[in-house]
Amino acid sequence: MEEVLLEKYHSHTEKCASCRGALGNLQRLRLGLAVGTGLVWVLLPLLVLLHPGVSIVTVIILTVAVFMSGVVWLLLGKLERQFYQGREIPPRNWPEKVDKEAKPR
Ligand SMILES: [Zn+2]
Repeated sequence: MEEVLLEKYHSHTEKCASCRGALGNLQRLRLGLAVGTGLVWVLLPLLVLLHPGVSIVTVIILTVAVFMSGVVWLLLGKLERQFYQGREIPPRNWPEKVDKEAKPR
């Protein structure tokens, strides 16, 4: 199972500088998003406790932002998996691989 899941990684991502770079950026972005979202998630109740007069609009905006970050985090995770599995990426996005696999008919 693991072998199948990592097939794309070993056959392409591992050897392709631009994909490795993109994957690294994606992972850093997800980490930053998780840390930032976690901070807001933790600080939001504190903000309300320490400043009972805080605008409800501010609280709603921050809550929505936390949920949206969560959704973006999940979507980026889906994107990240494509670097390992790769089935969902159209072949036109992978010219190196297409060239290698293109067989004369
Ligand atoms: Zn590539």
